[in-house]
Amino acid sequence: MQLEFWGAAREVTGSMHLLRVGRKSLLIDCGLAQGRRKHAFERNRNLPFDASTIDAVILTHAHIDHSGNLPTLARGGFRGRIFTTSATEDLCNYMLVDSAHIQKSDVRYVNRRRKKEGKRPFEPLYQIGDVRKALSRFRAIDYHSWFTPVEGVRALFLDAGHILGSASVILEVTEAGRTRRIAFSGDIGRKGLPILKDPEVPHGADFVVMESTYGDRLHEPASAAKGYLRECASSTAEKGGVLLIPSFALGRTQEVVYRLNQLWEEGALPPIDVYVDSPLAVNVTEVFGRHPECWDKEMIETTRNDRDGDALGFRRLRYVQSVEESKSLNAKPGPMIIISASGMCEGGRVLHHLSNNLDKPSTAVLFVGFQAANTLGRKILEGRSPVPILGTMVEVNARVERADSYSAHADRNELIAWAESARETGNIQKYFLVHGEPESAESLATALRERGTAEVLVPERGQAFEL
Ligand SMILES: [Zn+2]
Repeated sequence: MQLEFWGAAREVTGSMHLLRVGRKSLLIDCGLAQGRRKHAFERNRNLPFDASTIDAVILTHAHIDHSGNLPTLARGGFRGRIFTTSATEDLCNYMLVDSAHIQKSDVRYVNRRRKKEGKRPFEPLYQIGDVRKALSRFRAIDYHSWFTPVEGVRALFLDAGHILGSASVILEVTEAGRTRRIAFSGDIGRKGLPILKDPEVPHGADFVVMESTYGDRLHEPASAAKGYLRECASSTAEKGGVLLIPSFALGRTQEVVYRLNQLWEEGALPPIDVYVDSPLAVNVTEVFGRHPECWDKEMIETTRNDRDGDALGFRRLRYVQSVEESKSLNAKPGPMIIISASGMCEGGRVLHHLSNNLDKPSTAVLFVGFQAANTLGRKILEGRSPVPILGTMVEVNARVERADSYSAHADRNELIAWAESARETGNIQKYFLVHGEPESAESLATALRERGTAEVLVPERGQAFEL
């Protein structure tokens, strides 16, 4: 078999790995590359292979950097099946449609400039029709149930504990009478994350492709997250202001809501109204309710003991869908908590809330996710003022906080433990580290080399390996 790395190689986005077995081609993930707009756009548009030659796709989870370029694949003539878990399929129904809307508004912005320069306008990367084509290829498979994506390959999904529906996958490849196993970690979650089960480790692998996002960093324990929230909610309640939590619609939003619900149930939440203001988050949260097979024991018990039977809702919390209701929040007197996307403040309704509230000393902004360089979130976090929002400069007089304990990715120690457990049950010849900036991938590679005999590689984009 031959393994080719076409994304998330010495970087964290655009996950896409190609496994060739005999005459069959199997793609593992087909994510959007993100980063500098022009570069990302070119790369996402030009797949490095003919889409019609791909026989099947295995999708590890619904995050856009893993699933977001499936519509481009479908548009390019892919006619095979996309195998994934049932929860991932349901999430992609919303995530990919949302992504098509983002592609459209992104290109509109670029074209405004091109028009001024007298240049020909760009087409969006893909349209809703391409999303529909991709979604029609999905086939849901249960965790722990072997299936055959292409001739010569059996596959098994394990729970990766990263987001709802996330999976690691074991591929058992038989060629010329010889059978070997290659495991793809997908994104690896953390033990003790609320709602989700702990990550499972693939067994019996000969080769492992694993993520390394936080290969050089440690996280605060996930349990510390509740304390930050209580503290920020209390001081906002005292000041009568607004606590703004910029958060991505999938994963982090539900985690924050779950913690708030816990505080509410314990009677530890001060009297304050809570709004989740993101239509995508509303839809995604509804998908969480439909997939109890993905819940951990704590989530099942919390739901059972919850006063209103809902671990992602309570009397003072409202999910806001309509634009009118979102706008009406501005006229409401505080105190209140608003959770709104996007997580790095690069778009979405959070921009309106920031623009209306950042100049007030009674406002607090709590960042619960990573803020990439050059994003508005990063500027606010670094203490810049004024900051540009929706075409105007806004003074920052708000209190700005950040909670590091929120992360859906395993940290360095958890990644090492995961790799070590995989080694105990298999006869691993090679680890390939992907989905990490060069420093974190190399740092994890060094740690793994010190511990074992297997070869540890950090592939570059376009590199191919005969296994
Ligand atoms: Zn992910």
